[in-house]
Amino acid sequence: MIATTARPPSKLAASLRGLIGCCPNCGRGRLLRNYLKPVDHCSICGEAFGHLRADDAPPWMTILIVGHIVIPALLAVEQTYEPPTWVHMAVWPLLSLLLTLALLPRCKGFILGLLWSTGAPGSERG
Ligand SMILES: [Zn+2]
Repeated sequence: MIATTARPPSKLAASLRGLIGCCPNCGRGRLLRNYLKPVDHCSICGEAFGHLRADDAPPWMTILIVGHIVIPALLAVEQTYEPPTWVHMAVWPLLSLLLTLALLPRCKGFILGLLWSTGAPGSERG
């Protein structure tokens, strides 16, 4: 009899796989569908993800990152170039929106990968 001794990925590896939108377990299947909805099961390894709930952690993480990028950039541009107000009103909200849309699914994948690696039962299981 051959025993399978495949070790589960580390918390860091699982989180990084989630960050790039891949299954935290095998790293090959997709983790999210329709932008932010977790898949019920990995199409490659069959690991279940539909029960995991990231709640407010991904938006919180996204706001934290976007704020730390946009606010220092805004202040640096203002102090260096002193552009008119309409430039600020055109650039920074758009940059904030684009960064948020780009980072939110990555943050959700990171959090779901971390939740999965810790064995969190999720809120949808009895
Ligand atoms: Zn998988």
